[in-house]
Amino acid sequence: MDAAPRLPPDPFAERVIGRCLVGKDGAPDSRFLLLHTNDLQARYSERLGGKSRFARLAGALAAERATTPNVLVLDGGDAYEKGSFAETLSSGEATREALQLLPFDARVIGNHDFAWGREQVLRDVSQSRFPVLAANIQYVPVEGKPASENPFLPYVRYRVGCVKVAVLGLVTAGFDARDEQAKGPYDTVFVHDDRYATIAKGLVEKLRPDADVIIALDHLGLFPDSQLAQRVPGIDIFISSHTEEFLENPNPVWRADGRMGYLVEAGHWTRAFGRGTVVVGPKSVSFENYKLVRLTEQTPVDDEVEKGVAAIEAKYAPKLNETIVSAGKTIPLIDLPGLVRDAFRSEEGVDGVLIGGDTFFGPIAKGPATPQSLFETFFIQREPAGTSGFTSLWKGTFTGAQLLELKSRVRGGNLRMFLPSPLVKDANYSIGISKRLREHPDVFFNAPPPLPATSFVGEQIDLVLRYAKRRAAAGKTLDGP
Ligand SMILES: [Zn+2]
Repeated sequence: MDAAPRLPPDPFAERVIGRCLVGKDGAPDSRFLLLHTNDLQARYSERLGGKSRFARLAGALAAERATTPNVLVLDGGDAYEKGSFAETLSSGEATREALQLLPFDARVIGNHDFAWGREQVLRDVSQSRFPVLAANIQYVPVEGKPASENPFLPYVRYRVGCVKVAVLGLVTAGFDARDEQAKGPYDTVFVHDDRYATIAKGLVEKLRPDADVIIALDHLGLFPDSQLAQRVPGIDIFISSHTEEFLENPNPVWRADGRMGYLVEAGHWTRAFGRGTVVVGPKSVSFENYKLVRLTEQTPVDDEVEKGVAAIEAKYAPKLNETIVSAGKTIPLIDLPGLVRDAFRSEEGVDGVLIGGDTFFGPIAKGPATPQSLFETFFIQREPAGTSGFTSLWKGTFTGAQLLELKSRVRGGNLRMFLPSPLVKDANYSIGISKRLREHPDVFFNAPPPLPATSFVGEQIDLVLRYAKRRAAAGKTLDGP
């Protein structure tokens, strides 16, 4: 898995893909096949017809490559988080290795790809078999000192068949513990620049003289991309991501220079990829036969990738799909805060719990539950990057007076407060609280008072798994009495 990177010594040198064919008229073929993905979100542990989604995707891309050598395969970022629990158990390593099984020519880093912090990001980029782009991130390991050599490339250049293609990469801002975008560096060292148009414009001016096609591999979102298209002349194709839209066809957009650009985006969760022939005309670039291809049980499988994913799971998460408990009935979303409260009381002995009711990703199905199936309800989004999940659980000692004051300041939203009744002003209570609430109580309270110190307990999934095992050992279901 740790094969040495196979990047050329000069990262900006033209990489040659396929071969340039000349037609009977002596003119070089001015087309190539573009395949693109985005927001894969670590869905390698999800099986489609018994095979990993990553194996299906790799199989489909390989089948396309078998039909023509002139293929460029690009990924729009967010390969990490919200997919496999193996990622959590391996602090990101399982996803890094799974990503390396996929046959990309380049990828832009997404906001979720910073989740595991600086060392893992640097490892991801330096060990990558394909370049990782981000023109608007500077690596500044020591605050106030000049930037170090950047691990990310601002752009790469290819000759795909006869077509000269330049690909630049941009990434959106990071998220804070409110799960909202915020200014500031990723994990304190990857300084983010939000002057997307200025940066893109500078790169287009540099790249245009030697490019037939300029592609922006953006992890910005569809709307920011369409704004960028209107402000920056010269970008032919925007491979959008982050907003996870399933665009059946390229969205045409009038560019600042009066020509047409195209926005494409291929959904999320390793469900689909985009596929279209890029044609370089005398005046403009266009798509032919574009379609969004959904992965199905009929999609070809890459057996090597299937084996690779199985090996990653065996190494980092051998009990990923072992039943640990059963649910007596389906536990709907509305009952999940109560489940976290019960787990918190059972495992940490707290008197009360304050959490958001809006951070669960789906009901728990009736029947056997596994670490992976429970993780799919209690996904982790490590925000800010390099820290625990914004839904992680903490605990501390609150006085009755503090809790009463908080109760009087609730300003709505999906807050769930589980508190003893009645509250005695002078009494002390052990209270479990989510990270978003401890760091940003203003999300749910008007002018909240300073909160007491709290210490880290774990992620929601950690606590629920402990609780599930305890209940199963006692012969109980997850949800019953
Ligand atoms: Zn994103």
